[in-house]
Amino acid sequence: MSDDTVLHVKGRVLAGPGEDQVRDELWVIDGRVSYDRPTGARDIRTVTGWALPGLVDAHCHVGLGAHGPVDAGTAEKQALTDRDAGTLLIRDAGSPSDTRWVDDREDLPKIIRAGRHIARTRRYLRGYAHEIEPADLVAYVGREARRGDGWVKLVGDWIDREAGDLTACWPRDAVEAAIGEAHRLGARVTAHCFAESSLRDLVESGIDCVEHATGLTDDLIPLFVSRGVAIVPTLVNIATFPRLAAGGETRYPAWSAHMRRLHARRYDTVRNAHDAGIPVFVGTDAGGSLPHGLVAAEVAELVKAGIPPLAALAAATWSARDWLGRPALTEGAPADLVVYEQDPRADVRVLGTPARVVLNGRIVG
Ligand SMILES: [Zn+2]
Repeated sequence: MSDDTVLHVKGRVLAGPGEDQVRDELWVIDGRVSYDRPTGARDIRTVTGWALPGLVDAHCHVGLGAHGPVDAGTAEKQALTDRDAGTLLIRDAGSPSDTRWVDDREDLPKIIRAGRHIARTRRYLRGYAHEIEPADLVAYVGREARRGDGWVKLVGDWIDREAGDLTACWPRDAVEAAIGEAHRLGARVTAHCFAESSLRDLVESGIDCVEHATGLTDDLIPLFVSRGVAIVPTLVNIATFPRLAAGGETRYPAWSAHMRRLHARRYDTVRNAHDAGIPVFVGTDAGGSLPHGLVAAEVAELVKAGIPPLAALAAATWSARDWLGRPALTEGAPADLVVYEQDPRADVRVLGTPARVVLNGRIVG
């Protein structure tokens, strides 16, 4: 396919969640979406099926492996695996690698970075984060806000080995000042939180999003709703809690029991959040211990939790893009889309087998 070939996507173009937003066809002209038939004689290649905007993985790590940073070749493979699964927009939720080179690659997913994780000293996975004390939090948040693409990532709670359980990592005044600094610099803030106890301080301090949010109990839901705080549950990652709990059973029995309780109620937590009106987005947490390319599995998990299929689909497409300030299939938008042989609204498992992946107007898979 030469550069001036026009791609004609025919069938059902799902430009939004509403039936009135479904179109019969779109055209890709010079890498961009158009709903106007091109004029003049041009080579046309037709693709038929159900088209969605490129999927969004709102919690993914490119350039991160089980033990910290990975080389560029490994990071490239991670990004290609996501792309081939239909993920064309990534919110990178913390990476110790400089992946800025990806921005120059038309064939790799677009990445919105949160800089590097910021954690309390010895309170996170080794090799991942800046590990600092509260007095330095504002300075590090400022630095990562400048390095990233509009997000900063904190580790809000983690196992406290002395307490033998999850505890909040930061005093209230430190997170208030840090979130204020990020907002002053135009960045949003998110935090890794498994526990219940870290959430109130972060949300009352103005945080924009919470990752995992397994500790989101019913008493905290109205606070999230009133502040408009989103969650990215990463259920494919929460599925590993029983294994983690088993590994820590002997040394940290209270932590272990806590992790099992959070796991046991995970679907209720996510469904209650969605039902109350908390924005829920799809994130896989690929890159640390989990493989890349799990976006379809995470959408299926949200449906299993009780989120209606169309809402789970929106959480990986239209509403996720809107939340991140990126277009979906609007006129003139970069042609980032995925075509399926069946209707993903009828069964989200269809997402697992993309027929065609189109990135920047080019068929890449
Ligand atoms: Zn993560």
